[in-house]
Amino acid sequence: MPRRTKILATLGPATDNPKVLDGLISAGIDVVRLNLSHGTHEEHAWRAEVIRDRARASGRQVGVLVDLQGPKIRIGRFRDGPIQLKEEETFTLDAGCGLGEGDQHRVGITYPELVRDVHRGDTLLLADGAIELWVDEVVVDRIVCRVMVGGVLSDGKGINRKGGGLSAPALTDKDRRDIRFAAEIEADYLAVSFVRHAADVEEARHLLQQAGGKADIVSKIERAEALEAIDDIIEVSEVIMIARGDLGVEIGDAELPAVQKMLIKKARFGNKVVVTATQMMESMIEKAIPTRAEVFDVANAVLDGTDAVMLSAETAAGRYPVKAVQAMDRVCREAEKQSKVTRSHHRIDTVFGRVDEAIAMATMYTANHLGVAAIAALTESGSTPKWMSRISSGIPIYALTGHVATRRKVTLYRGVHPVSFDVVAHDSQKANEEIVEELQRRGAIRTGDLIIITKGDLNGVEGGTNVMKILRVGEHIISARTVD
Ligand code: PGA
Ligand code: MN
Repeated sequence: MPRRTKILATLGPATDNPKVLDGLISAGIDVVRLNLSHGTHEEHAWRAEVIRDRARASGRQVGVLVDLQGPKIRIGRFRDGPIQLKEEETFTLDAGCGLGEGDQHRVGITYPELVRDVHRGDTLLLADGAIELWVDEVVVDRIVCRVMVGGVLSDGKGINRKGGGLSAPALTDKDRRDIRFAAEIEADYLAVSFVRHAADVEEARHLLQQAGGKADIVSKIERAEALEAIDDIIEVSEVIMIARGDLGVEIGDAELPAVQKMLIKKARFGNKVVVTATQMMESMIEKAIPTRAEVFDVANAVLDGTDAVMLSAETAAGRYPVKAVQAMDRVCREAEKQSKVTRSHHRIDTVFGRVDEAIAMATMYTANHLGVAAIAALTESGSTPKWMSRISSGIPIYALTGHVATRRKVTLYRGVHPVSFDVVAHDSQKANEEIVEELQRRGAIRTGDLIIITKGDLNGVEGGTNVMKILRVGEHIISARTVD
């Protein structure tokens, strides 16, 4: 059985070797993330090209996600290397200090407007929460803080305010350039960092479309205010990412598990795709096996119903990138054995807006109750298999399409597997036979299995799915129902 949960792996210096990329592909990555917080366009373009080449060579599809840096507020650099902050000391974030001029007492900041956003009594968290500063006073362009939790502070570390509320807009000038880059390399997904509300998502989409890009938009949920506007954000996004790193800093780590479950539920209910990200196998940056806690975290995300689990520094900068993917693969597979759900109340009380949506829902209801071996969805845009995959099921959904962009897009959908397929036959019976043969060739079905095929009366029409057919492999059609 193919793994249902998808693995999204960040590429970086540790994977910049075709052998490692081959290793990642055979370990089972589905989508790669190009993290624009680091590296040059040339480096990322090379990564996208090579991963697509190698995937093609091994008969696989790998999607490409471009992740914008966003308005991550950072400290400047220190003149003489990292400093040590001790509790109760005074330390100043100084908008008037040159970015390379930091010392034991003060450091510059990349977003000077920060001085207008913070007030006495605020808590600022540096380096993903490792260092905690209490704002004592704001004087002109200086934020004078008392160190509450100390430690080593090095160049360029991030700054978050506990509780959120920083004014920085979601798209920086660099992000605008990076959006054009995403369009140029034909990225399948564009992730927008630090989304505040739906308008940020729409602006990113507008810029992408202006640049000729066709990527789906991934909204990274990592600001406290994004949670307040979550329904609107989900509505205008194709995908949401639970960006637990920054989100945990803003809302507090203890809040994360409940928020993760809520976000996964809401996304799936809204027919959207959801990625669970950050620190999933963090210890594997240094070690060849994950901790027990990490095994549980990945398995629990699978049980929560996430579409994909993500690796960040584990693959981009870790010592064991391939082993990290292998670990995720085995943990997901085992967890999926538990989560096989054959009944689903998903959207049982809702009205369907479209014929193809109704076919997708009817297919899953039937598949789960009849015990079919596989579902074959002939698709143009991938929306039928996406609807299907919102329903809990253990049955693999094959997305058969002649469009490479669609094959790449479905790499992120839980339980959906891309198959390159062009309908040659005009006769509907013949076309069914070709589909069955293709899946048999892949070892997905055997003689005697029941399968469901969905398609449109007219091939090549987007949104045209209006047929659901139930067949028994190798025998005559036992029932053929057409639902219009
Ligand atoms: P990042 O986003 O890795 O780009 O910071 C993910 C997160 O914040 O969890
Ligand atoms: Mn982040």
